[in-house]
Amino acid sequence: SDVRENLTYERFGGAIRELAQTIADDGYEPDVVLSIARGGVFVAGGLAYALDCKNIHLVNVEFYTGVGTTLEMPVMLAPVPNAIDFSEKKVLIADDVADTGKTLKLVHDFCQGTVAEVRSAVIYEKPHSLVKCEYVWKRTDEWINFPWSVEPPVVRREGQVLDA
Ligand code: 5GP
Repeated sequence: SDVRENLTYERFGGAIRELAQTIADDGYEPDVVLSIARGGVFVAGGLAYALDCKNIHLVNVEFYTGVGTTLEMPVMLAPVPNAIDFSEKKVLIADDVADTGKTLKLVHDFCQGTVAEVRSAVIYEKPHSLVKCEYVWKRTDEWINFPWSVEPPVVRREGQVLDA
């Protein structure tokens, strides 16, 4: 269908505060926010400030190649974080959306066993996700437009750069 869930930067600000409030109200105080790049970086930064957590880590995962088109399985790209960094830590995995949930499951499984506790926070969760995140701002089954990826990358405009 052509129906889209549109998240703007304006709505994103409120969404992050509400998501963080839910986590705080639940009493979860993460030592580390582990973001799934690239979309989860925005979420992790906002949550880490709102939850007063100063430690952010990042894992790059590649899965989607277009609207609704994916690789067979998500893959973690190098450099993969050192699991030692998370040992005995309370980890909050942050991503923009749990769609199939395969990306979050990959990162969740990576943490499992080495960390003290791991929970997941997303702005959106789709109903068919195989992972049920502890913290979800909104549930939808539409394709979501995120403000950071709705527009194509900028291209260089000829004649705009002054010579040094
Ligand atoms: P999953 O592994 O849960 O299927 O997908 C996770 C990743 O795929 C997300 O972090 C996001 O980058 C991308 N993705 C999945 N669904 C959507 C969507 O509805 N809209 C956008 N823009 N990206 C999505």
